[in-house]
Amino acid sequence: MFKCYLCNDEYVITSYFCDDCNYIKRILQCYGRSEIKDIITKTCIRNKKQRINKIDIIKDKLNKEEKKEEIGDESYLPSPSNNPNGEMLKELKKKLSK
Ligand SMILES: [Zn+2]
Repeated sequence: MFKCYLCNDEYVITSYFCDDCNYIKRILQCYGRSEIKDIITKTCIRNKKQRINKIDIIKDKLNKEEKKEEIGDESYLPSPSNNPNGEMLKELKKKLSK
């Protein structure tokens, strides 16, 4: 009993590759190594711009959560632009928090 030569995760007895890796190997033989390498690189590996975008998205999310904690949960209230009393409610909240 050996571990699969590709994933090194599954145990195999009669071949070098487990069922999943055999499937991957057959696709690789069909399309060719360079084509598969290209597809994997394009779909699985993030380039620098994509990494920066992801970081910005996470930063925005964290900032929004921080602001929410400072103001308190207002999700049950309509937004100030839709609600004529919205500004008044905000002022009242400020006065109450002092
Ligand atoms: Zn495997």
